[in-house]
Amino acid sequence: MNKPEEICPRCFIGVLRFDLQAYALVWQQQIIAIPDAPCYTCDICSYREYEDDLVNWVHELIGTAPNDADDPRPRNQPKSHHKA
Ligand SMILES: [Zn+2]
Repeated sequence: MNKPEEICPRCFIGVLRFDLQAYALVWQQQIIAIPDAPCYTCDICSYREYEDDLVNWVHELIGTAPNDADDPRPRNQPKSHHKA
């Protein structure tokens, strides 16, 4: 799955390198955060580009998630929900 190195589209000097960075988005006034999201980061200007797969997955996840954010009861969910 390794891409060839890509020149940064912002500074045109740096190279986008595979990295794991936090990814966060705001959804229904809540912040959804993924601590180690695969992305490509420019080594010069820190421009960051996330994998389309990740973005699609996140949107799929919140699109199909039951709306239980207001449910105060503890839930026992297997953590290994998402495996490649
Ligand atoms: Zn750059």
